[in-house]
Amino acid sequence: QVRVRFAPSPTGPLHIGGVRTALFNYLFAKKNNGVFFLRIEDTDQNRFVAGAEEYILEALEWLGIAPDETINKNEKFGPYRQSERKHLYKQYADLLIASGHAYYAFDTAEALDAHRKQHEEQGKTFIYNHHNREKLDTSLVISNEETANRLANNEDYVIRFKTPVNETLVLQDIIRGEVKFETNLLDDKVLFKSDGMPTYHLANIVDDHLMQTTHVIRGEEWLPSMPLHVLLYRAFGWESPEFAHLPLILKPVGNGKLSKRDGDKMGFPVFPLEWKTEEGVSSGYREKGFFPETVINFLALLGWNDGTEKELFSLEELTQVFDLKRVHKSGAKFDPEKNKWFNHQYLMQQSDTTLAKAFAPIVESKDLNRYFTLVELTKIVSLIKERAHFVSEFWEMSDFFFIAPTVFDEKASKNWKAETPALMQELISVLEEISDFTAANIETIVKDWMTKNEIGMGKVMQPFRLSLVGALKGPHLFDIVEVIGKEETIKRIEKGIT
Ligand code: GLU
Repeated sequence: QVRVRFAPSPTGPLHIGGVRTALFNYLFAKKNNGVFFLRIEDTDQNRFVAGAEEYILEALEWLGIAPDETINKNEKFGPYRQSERKHLYKQYADLLIASGHAYYAFDTAEALDAHRKQHEEQGKTFIYNHHNREKLDTSLVISNEETANRLANNEDYVIRFKTPVNETLVLQDIIRGEVKFETNLLDDKVLFKSDGMPTYHLANIVDDHLMQTTHVIRGEEWLPSMPLHVLLYRAFGWESPEFAHLPLILKPVGNGKLSKRDGDKMGFPVFPLEWKTEEGVSSGYREKGFFPETVINFLALLGWNDGTEKELFSLEELTQVFDLKRVHKSGAKFDPEKNKWFNHQYLMQQSDTTLAKAFAPIVESKDLNRYFTLVELTKIVSLIKERAHFVSEFWEMSDFFFIAPTVFDEKASKNWKAETPALMQELISVLEEISDFTAANIETIVKDWMTKNEIGMGKVMQPFRLSLVGALKGPHLFDIVEVIGKEETIKRIEKGIT
């Protein structure tokens, strides 16, 4: 059975790139009738941020891609928080020591710095590995006896992986195909520290093994760790999961990875939900008025498509057509404008009543002198939604339905001529006579009146609109008239005349 995981470190709010990783894992699991689980990788207590774990879970919940197994949910392979699995890891580090795949090292930070400097002076980078240990810097190698003594002395140590020498690793990545690594260029990475904590690498491999992970789907930034991880599986004698490294998400303009700064500069969020700290608030897609469906849709297309021009995908559809083999190798450009377009598409898919219900609290907050029913709001929403990206724009687009304009667009006011007041007065008389006050009927009667009296369209329609809206904008004029009603329409025209 396919088992995949999302394994974030709770060091802050989940970046949109992390959400895409979660989504692709989710989709791959569902497509293959597998399990999607979430593991919190919190072994680095220095980088722990309060609230981050809850944020991650809430974000996935909001998007509809909650994990099948995680903390407090189907804890089949629990605990799902690495800090609660602490007791597990030491024995695995010991196993590697016993089998000769790892060793103790006692270097102080100063000593390591000195080595690094020394190399830099010769124009080289210091790699902590066999080559440097046994050839250039024999001081880095200590005897078994000395190791035992130092351990008995309670000296601080780390356990390092003993990277095999002179090997070219030819590995398979589902997205990238063959990837090659020279082991001589790899560091002997630290696996375990004397404070009792494993590093990311050890904990990650042990847990992926114990939790029976079949595929590791994660961001490209982890590709350099792939050789070490494969070597660790080999050293333990465990079967390695398959790997898929997702392409980077790139800035909307220029090159490089999308960052929070790009969002701040261009005014779009890089987080799914709002994130508040003492330093300020980072905006989130949810609070900006994006539908979860929108976020899922645009994230799915960051580095993947179904091979056609199709752009609109529901989560349900994605779980049927998603294919890791169709994920691109090259980075995917983030396009905030296109994301708004997606939101418009999902807005248009909602029923008018649903939109009206979402709009109602905004209208209620405006302290109007009368109550607007859901039926009225539904009608208004149906007239304006075509041009909206967000429910939050509705008020600005429709305020004239609720309150008479007090400011009038200057340019448009130029259409207000000497003969206009008399014409408007006549218009009022025409409107007063109409009993079936519906858009189509009002339109027919008003237009008949204009034709009969040979009055030019613009002469009436523009001042009429200006009186009702305050500007030459908004939906079809007679729709506005119907919604506002006879009494209010006449009142506004009268106000315009005086
Ligand atoms: N904890 C790592 C992260 O924060 C997990 C990387 C992986 O998936 O192996 O992204």
